[in-house]
Amino acid sequence: MGTTITLTVVATSETVANTALNAGFATVAEMERLFSSYRQDSVLAQVNRAAGGEPVSVPGDFVTLALLARKATEVSEGAFNPLVGPAVRLWGIPENPRVPDEAELTALRPLVSDPQGLAIDEFSHRVRLREPGMALGYGGIAKGFTADKVTEVLQGHGIAGGIVAIAGDIRVFGTHPDGTPWRVGVRPPREGEGSGPLATLEMTGGAVSTSGDYERFFELDGVRYHHILDPRTLWPAKAGTVSVTVTAHSGALADALATALFVMGPVEGLALAERMPRVEALFVDTTGTQSATSGWPGTEFLREPPANGLRD
Ligand code: AMP
Ligand code: MG
Repeated sequence: MGTTITLTVVATSETVANTALNAGFATVAEMERLFSSYRQDSVLAQVNRAAGGEPVSVPGDFVTLALLARKATEVSEGAFNPLVGPAVRLWGIPENPRVPDEAELTALRPLVSDPQGLAIDEFSHRVRLREPGMALGYGGIAKGFTADKVTEVLQGHGIAGGIVAIAGDIRVFGTHPDGTPWRVGVRPPREGEGSGPLATLEMTGGAVSTSGDYERFFELDGVRYHHILDPRTLWPAKAGTVSVTVTAHSGALADALATALFVMGPVEGLALAERMPRVEALFVDTTGTQSATSGWPGTEFLREPPANGLRD
């Protein structure tokens, strides 16, 4: 995935741990084969190449993620939009960064703005991008979804507790061997500014995701262009936000919402998080000021009983 992945497990023996970890990393590889934007042989690349053409048969997990992403688009009123794919490509962040012409962005807008741009047939497991030139990018949700899948696989291998961390998307289950909760630190967005974590979450369940303007960006003439685009303008979201951290019960939800809330900015973003059950959020703005939902960080759902192997 081009990111750091750390799996931590508590197991009854080294053999159990190793078998589970191998299965966990195999699941990461499997999800990468489905959702990678960088690989020409991913299922996602296949769907993008077929834009405007015939429906493409995809594995069930692809349909599941596509439906979750669609839900995220609905709840965020379009702030989360995987159809920003062509614009992400145009900006070329981080490989070939450049600032596109306004005319180039204008030409892409119709390919992004149609919420029905992706047709999903959840019964026959086929998907289709309606217009040539449309492209999906699941970079804003796939890591959290993968963390959920890996968690399920580890639990299926008898692992009672662990942490699945895929870059800034973290899923936790169970406890340390002595029964104490895992402690997950939320790093301050600008390294070197202040010391210590922004927050330390004590977790036995749930997920935490952070989206920030510091993850992937380039600078030109003193302006920072980062990788989270406002689907309305197709420019990097400009709400004065440096980072958004979201806690939720599932990794896919935390991941998608962190991206969405970053686009929405603190006023609308915090209002949305307040409305959603089992979702809390913390914003840090360019002056270092923090603002959070009233229930942040969501102690209740982050301290669920140790997982029993069933999907939550
Ligand atoms: P994240 O780090 O989870 O916030 O995801 C950022 C990635 O999601 C970017 O690198 C893009 O590939 C993609 N992306 C950018 N803007 C959006 C958006 N508004 N909605 C959904 N995905 C986006
Ligand atoms: Mg995200």
